[in-house]
Amino acid sequence: LDPGIDLTLESAFARVLPELSVPWQAARPECPELLVLNQALSRELGVNPDELRTESGVRVLLGNELAAGSTPVAQLYSGHQFGSYVSRLGDGRALLLGEIRDAHGQLRDLHLKGSGRTPFARADGFAAVGPMLREYLMGEAMAALGVPTTRALAVVATGRRVVRDDLLPGAVLVRTASSHLRVGTFQYARSLGDLELLRRVADFAIERHAPELAGSSAPYLGLLKSVIAAQAGLVSSWMLIGFVHGVLNTDNVAISGETIDYGPCAFLDAYDPAATFSSIDQNGRYAYGAQPSITLWNLTRFAEMLLPLLSEDESVAQRLASEALGEFSALYETAWLEGMRVKLGVAVGGDDDVVANIAGALLQELQRHRIDYTQFFRSLAAAGRGDSETLLGLYPGDEGPGAWFEWWISLNPDSAAMDLANPVYIPRNLLVDEALEAANEGDLEPFERLLEVLSDPLTARPGFERYAAGSPPGSRPHRTYC
Ligand code: AMP
Ligand code: MG
Ligand code: MG
Repeated sequence: LDPGIDLTLESAFARVLPELSVPWQAARPECPELLVLNQALSRELGVNPDELRTESGVRVLLGNELAAGSTPVAQLYSGHQFGSYVSRLGDGRALLLGEIRDAHGQLRDLHLKGSGRTPFARADGFAAVGPMLREYLMGEAMAALGVPTTRALAVVATGRRVVRDDLLPGAVLVRTASSHLRVGTFQYARSLGDLELLRRVADFAIERHAPELAGSSAPYLGLLKSVIAAQAGLVSSWMLIGFVHGVLNTDNVAISGETIDYGPCAFLDAYDPAATFSSIDQNGRYAYGAQPSITLWNLTRFAEMLLPLLSEDESVAQRLASEALGEFSALYETAWLEGMRVKLGVAVGGDDDVVANIAGALLQELQRHRIDYTQFFRSLAAAGRGDSETLLGLYPGDEGPGAWFEWWISLNPDSAAMDLANPVYIPRNLLVDEALEAANEGDLEPFERLLEVLSDPLTARPGFERYAAGSPPGSRPHRTYC
């Protein structure tokens, strides 16, 4: 088939790790309609967005016409879901079309979600417009905030109705990722009991994410350490922007250190370590404040899978893994404090202890008064310039910041730098819901406006006050659904 568009994919995963996938075909919707196309990302991938808009381009996006070199596969992986091990999960409604070499020479997965049932399906294989637009929006917001993330290239409406609680319009999400290797990929490979396969998976991960380790004296220990470091950095950036992933199962932890699988995720409004939004996280396993420790738990599962590659001597392997995992907390704390310094406008100067004390004291205060996490830092920057009105307005009644404020002022914080580090706009739950509800009714304008605001989250826009507002007082806790 001549796809009529200039796009060539590699099928590296399908070719190198055939045990970890099955070739599969995407469903063919009757009346597809391109809802959103990520022009900037398309150019980054070296693909002309105008070609993707054509009928043929949309068919390529859906996996109905195959780009040169593409061998679509459903990937296999296992995973701990809410702590319970499921030996075979895999892409139930997703496909890897192949890898594309982007403008920087990096390979990126081109992946579909909602493309029909695969042999690993647990439901209809489809996806609804709302959740796919949600993933698009969240990924773009995270990218604009500088957080490593998968990113959507497009959402295509299928014209099909999908059955959920209601009948909903169906869609396919086309997303890119620096890979879809997950902790669960290693769990599955290890479960097959084939050490050479496990080694091939690890080598593939190294080639993709840590090529400098290839040929080193201890490449697999190096891989473990680099994944631990990447995850420590990732979770610290989530904590710093107030992001709650919502479903940190081991199949949703990417080896690349990118945020992956935007299901029931949400941003904090009021600062609260116990905050959960997901309707399925009833015990708060994946609460905001639990994310660093659950990430370490997930990394421990990863390390266990790598043990046979670390040393032939089991006790040596155990020791190496424990030592590597033992670094996580310090890596996390260091990254977090560095980020918090930037948020507080004190990137340099002041002892770490002093800055950590200030941060600890102010976070306790935010929690006690249920102050909006995002609004707080922009208001604090203004207060650093001598304008305390907005900051005081966030506190109830006559309350105001405690002693930490004077400690902070004495460090000469840089308010201009704070405004370059603290967003005005985050994907607020109400706004996201509103945009997706309108999209369900066929009106994409609220989605497009929100996307535009979130793509430039640091610049306050006149007339967009509502987008920066916290949740209305007395509103019920927000719930997100998968
Ligand atoms: P998740 O909870 O999204 O991580 O999915 C858990 C498993 O269920 C994965 O194997 C998914 O591919 C599969 N799954 C989720 N939703 C669907 C669906 N609508 N159709 C088929 N499989 C699904
Ligand atoms: Mg998943
Ligand atoms: Mg999923």
